[in-house]
Amino acid sequence: MSAETDLLHIDDQLTDSERLIRDTVRSFTADQVLPNVGDWFEAGMLPRSVLTEMGKLGLFGMHLTGYGCAGVGPIAYGVACRELEAADSGLRSAASVQGSLAMFPIWKYGSDEQKEQWLPLMASGAAIGCFGLTEPDHGSDPASMRTRAVKDGPDWVLNGTKMWITNGSIADIAVVWATTDSGIRGFLVPRGTRGFTARDIHKKMSLRASITSELVLDSVRLPASAVLPGVTGLRGPLSCLTEARFGIAWGVTGAARTCLENAVAYAISRTQFGKPIAGFHLTQQKLAWMSVSLYQAQLLALHLGRLKSAGTLTPVQVSAGKMANARTAIDIARTSRTILAANGVTLEYPVIRHANNLEAVITYEGTEEIHALALGQALTGISAYR
Ligand SMILES: Cc1cc2nc3c(=O)[nH]c(=O)nc-3n(C[C@H](O)[C@H](O)[C@H](O)COP(=O)(O)OP(=O)(O)OC[C@H]3O[C@@H](n4cnc5c(N)ncnc54)[C@H](O)[C@@H]3O)c2cc1C
Repeated sequence: MSAETDLLHIDDQLTDSERLIRDTVRSFTADQVLPNVGDWFEAGMLPRSVLTEMGKLGLFGMHLTGYGCAGVGPIAYGVACRELEAADSGLRSAASVQGSLAMFPIWKYGSDEQKEQWLPLMASGAAIGCFGLTEPDHGSDPASMRTRAVKDGPDWVLNGTKMWITNGSIADIAVVWATTDSGIRGFLVPRGTRGFTARDIHKKMSLRASITSELVLDSVRLPASAVLPGVTGLRGPLSCLTEARFGIAWGVTGAARTCLENAVAYAISRTQFGKPIAGFHLTQQKLAWMSVSLYQAQLLALHLGRLKSAGTLTPVQVSAGKMANARTAIDIARTSRTILAANGVTLEYPVIRHANNLEAVITYEGTEEIHALALGQALTGISAYR
């Protein structure tokens, strides 16, 4: 945050190496993303070369150890997510999917061969991964998925459809979750496998600088070595989502910060009724509440980072962070948009892009309602899912 808006100096809590990561990602986005991201959003694309650069910077799987991963702590990972999302939620989504949803299951549950084959390539950005859990008819309730894997001799044969899959059509390797006779299992499906196709979803009005695809598995035959050996059941994909949601709790504070900074700068420079709109009480009240909400979100993210560093972070704590911070961020984006008024609806400013992106962010990786149910159950001991 700039000196004008970071009144609490929360980044003073960061270590020198965390600040170095912050500054490195900021300078990458300033040079290679911000000049173009409005055009990418308008065109509905994210160049593959950006992912290559992110890999070169060590941003993929950076919180994992070994296999070419950077092995940084949770707060450093969170700071990187924040700075990527300060540019665009699509960029942070790409890093979240690659590191937490595609690399993490291989790192945590994969065989030695799977790890050695995929993790170094994915850490460097030479290979891209995706995570296929959601289906056309099963989003919040993945346990009801229809994608099925059956044994045929030593092989597995998969049939089903996965929907809304980030990076699906550009992925070299898809981590696909399917039901089997023994429960949900994860499968590594390389691009080009016979019967496996990916088709992009168009007409999206959110996360436009991000690729979203449908995956079709039509009698896809995989060797026994394609299954992730280390996990059975829904806890496999849910553990990956907990990793990724931690990054979202941090990331959205970046999007919110960008919106607030733009709102402050615009309010100071825009004159109506003979004075800057920043001089009106109503505008200052909006700015004051947005800044305080942002500080609260930043402190919550930092607290989660400290819990994760201590090894005590629980899924429900991550739900609290994802739910609260995504809501705070979208509220800040929408209020900032009102300060920019008509200019707030054009891509000449980043605010409407962030506001639109955050519509997907409050939905994916567990909707706001699903996280509320997780918290409600933790608070009351009563499950209200059904
Ligand atoms: C841009 C984008 C990228 C995505 N990337 C991925 C990806 O890479 N991989 C992947 O697997 N998925 C991905 N998703 C899918 C995302 O995780 C799902 O959209 C999300 O889980 C919600 O599922 P749904 O859209 O089917 O909504 P539904 O589950 O149909 O929910 C519809 C509404 O009902 C509410 N609801 C559902 N159940 C309950 C309940 N018990 N009580 C109260 N309310 C309830 C929901 O909160 C929501 O408001 C992505 C989605 C988007 C938009």
